Parts: sequence; C-alpha cells; structure tokens
Amino acid sequence: MAVERAGLVRRHHTHLLLPHAALDAPQRALFEVALRPAGWTADPDNTSTMSLRWNRGDAALRLQTLGWFPLLVTVGPMGKATGVHRDAAARLTSAVLAGGGKSFTDRQLVEYLPQAQERWQRALLERRRLSTAERLLRARRCSSCGAWSDLSATHCAGCRRRFTTADDAERDATVSRAAATVQEAEAILADLARGVVLDRLNGAAHG
Ligand SMILES: [Zn+2]
Repeated sequence: MAVERAGLVRRHHTHLLLPHAALDAPQRALFEVALRPAGWTADPDNTSTMSLRWNRGDAALRLQTLGWFPLLVTVGPMGKATGVHRDAAARLTSAVLAGGGKSFTDRQLVEYLPQAQERWQRALLERRRLSTAERLLRARRCSSCGAWSDLSATHCAGCRRRFTTADDAERDATVSRAAATVQEAEAILADLARGVVLDRLNGAAHG
C-alpha cells in the first residue's frame, strides 16, 4: 500500500477508522449523507476506488484510503484549509463516530499504519484460503491425473476413469474440511473488518 507519509501527518487532516472492510457503497453513502446538507457535492470526475472528492464553491475536499480491514481514511482540503473544510471534517467525524468508528490523531495514525499493513496482508491470506476452499466445494480433483471434475461426477473429466469408493470417501472428507475452512476464514475476515486485534483472532497462525 503506497502511503505518502508526508501528506498524511500534515495538519488540517482528519483521520478516521470505520469498522468495515473497505470503502464500499455503505461507507460512501455515510460520507455523502454527512456532507450533502452542508452544500458539498461529489466530484463527478473522480472515479478512484481509493479516494473521494467533493466540491463546495471554490473549496475542494479529498478523502483518501490508507488502510483496509478496518477501513482507515484521511480527509483534508485540496488547497488552503478554511472554515468550510473544518466544518466538513467535523461532519464526517460525527458520522463515523455515530457509526461505531473512531478518529485518530496524527501520532495514533503513524503508530497504527504498520498494523494496517499487517491486517491487510492477513486479509489477503484469508481471502486466498477462502477461494481455495470454495473451489473444493465445487469440484473434485482426480488423484490419478490431477484434473478437476464436477463435485458429483462419477467419472474423471480428465482421464475418464471411474472414481472409486475410496476416492469418494476422500472427496467427502475434503468437502467437510473445506466447509470448515470457509466458515473460519469468513469469521476472521469479519473480525478483521470490525477491528478485532490480530492477536485475538481465532486460528491465529496459518501456513
Ligand atoms: Zn483423472
């Protein structure tokens, strides 16, 4: 995650943590609802998935994602900071606090960033485990040729041999392990998004 450190410890920036995985539609809507009454409108030219921009007269405001699982953003003026920017920051902060999030000082942010990096790496690991396990719930692998077949197939799609009773028993065991892995990975991803600290996550170490 490329983070421009000089930019985020500058004054006039407000750092906010939200108990969600990423900058998705509900979070975008939360910010929108907080700013619209004050006359801010979303910049139609901004198509970034990592940032948001709003304009109000000559004033422009930018929100930038700094971390995921949970979502960490920094908000600040584009150009000179004014009263309308401070008002916008206060509105966003209230909305985030009301939604179960919190605000970070510059110092807290700098301390937290390495954790944000670790959390994202852990989330990527869990997503990989999840997609591998989900595949095992959809398909079976031939122990002889390695080809994948439909989970309920009686014959291998690769070498055409008929699966044996032992193959079926192994498939069933694999499916049950995969189902448990899916449940565990999903629970860990939800915990990461909510902000549960890494040490307290269940199944802390995975290869
Ligand atoms: Zn085969």
